[in-house]
Amino acid sequence: METISDYFGCLVFDERVMKAKLSSNVYRSLHKTIQRGTKLDPSVADAVAAAMKEWAIANGATHFTHWFQPLTGITAEKHDSFITPAPDGGVIMDFSGKELIRGEPDASSFPSGGLRATFEARGYTAWDPTSYAFIKDKALCIPTAFCSYGGEALDKKTPLLRSMEALNRQAMRILKLFGNTDVKCVHTSVGPEQEYFLVSKELYEQRKDLIYTGRTLFGAKPPKGQEMDDHYFGVIKPRVAAFMEDLNKELWKLGILAKTEHNEVAPAQHELAPIYTTTNIATDHNQLTMEIMQKVAASHGLVCLLHEKPFAGVNGSGKHNNWSMATDTGVNLLSPGETPYENAQFLLFLCAVIKAVDDYQDLLRISVATAGNDHRLGANEAPPAVVSIFLGDELTAILDAIESDKPYEGAKKTNMKLGVDVLPRFPKDTTDRNRTSPFAFTGNKFEFRMLGSSNSIACANIMLNAAVAESLKIYADRLEGAEDFETRLHEMIRKTIKDHKRIIFNGNGYNEAWIKEATEKRGLCNYRTTPDCIPHILDEKNVKMLTGHGVFSMAELRSRCEIQLENYCKTVTIEANTMVDMAKKQILPAVQSYTAELAGGVAAKKAAAPGVVCSYETGLITKLSALTDQIATQTEVLETAVLGLNRAADVQEESVSIRDTILPQMAQLRALADEAETLTAEKYWPFPTYGELLFGVR
Ligand code: ADP
Ligand code: MG
Repeated sequence: METISDYFGCLVFDERVMKAKLSSNVYRSLHKTIQRGTKLDPSVADAVAAAMKEWAIANGATHFTHWFQPLTGITAEKHDSFITPAPDGGVIMDFSGKELIRGEPDASSFPSGGLRATFEARGYTAWDPTSYAFIKDKALCIPTAFCSYGGEALDKKTPLLRSMEALNRQAMRILKLFGNTDVKCVHTSVGPEQEYFLVSKELYEQRKDLIYTGRTLFGAKPPKGQEMDDHYFGVIKPRVAAFMEDLNKELWKLGILAKTEHNEVAPAQHELAPIYTTTNIATDHNQLTMEIMQKVAASHGLVCLLHEKPFAGVNGSGKHNNWSMATDTGVNLLSPGETPYENAQFLLFLCAVIKAVDDYQDLLRISVATAGNDHRLGANEAPPAVVSIFLGDELTAILDAIESDKPYEGAKKTNMKLGVDVLPRFPKDTTDRNRTSPFAFTGNKFEFRMLGSSNSIACANIMLNAAVAESLKIYADRLEGAEDFETRLHEMIRKTIKDHKRIIFNGNGYNEAWIKEATEKRGLCNYRTTPDCIPHILDEKNVKMLTGHGVFSMAELRSRCEIQLENYCKTVTIEANTMVDMAKKQILPAVQSYTAELAGGVAAKKAAAPGVVCSYETGLITKLSALTDQIATQTEVLETAVLGLNRAADVQEESVSIRDTILPQMAQLRALADEAETLTAEKYWPFPTYGELLFGVR
């Protein structure tokens, strides 16, 4: 029987293949580039391209593509076949180093947020050798960065790689100060837990809202939702189990370390978590995972919904971004060490994160802001829109002791003097009891829980890496000049705790009182919606930090701001248009037909037995007629409001008016239609109900 290790990574041009197919010189050179990010020798590229081509063709590939992540949020690819005409009328299979290193897709149809106006329409893709090439759909996919000709990033990978480099630079300065001379680089790792829904494909295809927007825009509450808590970690249904089995197999072939799978809280909701890996690769893998999930679902007669809020009334889907920093020598910098010196180092890195999250809470919020995620954050099923850190009681007590120079009871030591005491290890279960925190320390990593399920994890990690790089830079600047390293270190840790403890909150994040305390007493940001937060990406402190580390240029920041707002406006506008369409063409005709049938029945009854009362029918007819009129009116109101939007000049203004007028009107229309649904005979209702969608997969 074939075992997993027989086929794991069989579609990946990984170390094993490289070692087997490349000469030792070429392998060494490429390996150095992969490990240390050094520039690739161009002569090596031809040799790598030739080996890749040979390997890809042997594994069934006919095409190659530069695979990239434009600002649409999904991945893009343009396939070219390997064929080149041969003089004898046939073809040869060709692939050069030049084709491997650089591509020139037409950039003009990807969002550029104004960069296109200022720069060139064309863009180019550049090979990212730090993420392995792989085969998908008979095409050799080469992970690439995507830039304009002026060098402005048009994708999510470029700033992500820049942010990783920024963090590496600053972390190395700190490690040097602690005497770690053997460390050559520091990278960040991520393990993203991915939530999703599975619904029947047949039912999905009958719902325009799911098809056009990925979420239901109408739907009365079914008799049963998630109130019994009987789905979470429940037995996986056979159809879902078969899907998961195939999914794992496809992911494993692509070298993706799919590890854990279980049912989530809402009916029809599930989760997949991989084993963590370097952030850049984790990001590529998560994009691939979302794509493969949809593909495998289709082959099982299912549809995988990645929207943040596919159904009202039950939980939406998020993505937990488990994040840590580690050295190339295998030391997790967020893990308390064995010696006092390692502890001091751990505390400094911990403080760097605390400071970063407090100083750049707005950027973290921005990094997860989408129209879809606005339905979750703060809705008592996901963390609130206020960013705070959960450290757990033990670590919080240690930090308190350091701040106040008081003895720390837990460790049974007198004073927490850095460089003297050994910190206790934090068992996982004492650090991760709180599920309501947006940013939780979980023993040796932080779990950022605000990401939406369909978000690329690149955005959150760019901001996180950059912000932590900034804290580390400030620390390194101060420490490098210090006469007494230990004293300065101790002072800095104390100062960080004192200045930033407002961001630490170990209580219940769903509690209304917390939001009041956070905003009124602690002065934390509470940007409830996307239009509220996005413009702050251009706040002076944010621009200074992000451009200072070379993560974004000013032009790139302006363009991202515009694209995110534009995306919000387009998303909601499409939803509103879909509602208008469904109301006019499906809901109103259905309710009307049913009312007509009732009326016909009354007429028939009265003809047969003059004098009968028919109060059931007439009551229902009265209610449904009134609702029909209201639905028709509200549909018009919404339609007119959407048409009026196009006159708004500025995208920020437009996003605010969409939030303040369109969304409330959509909610009103939905309420009316949902009421009509509860009164209309099942066979008249024009599309599958919540009950069918949520409980239809067995
Ligand atoms: P849970 O969050 O359910 O307690 P785990 O903590 O075991 O589960 O893991 C959740 C995710 O965190 C997994 O994807 C795992 O690989 C990842 N993870 C574990 N350790 C680290 C780390 N040091 N850095 C980044 N991610 C990690
Ligand atoms: Mg988790």
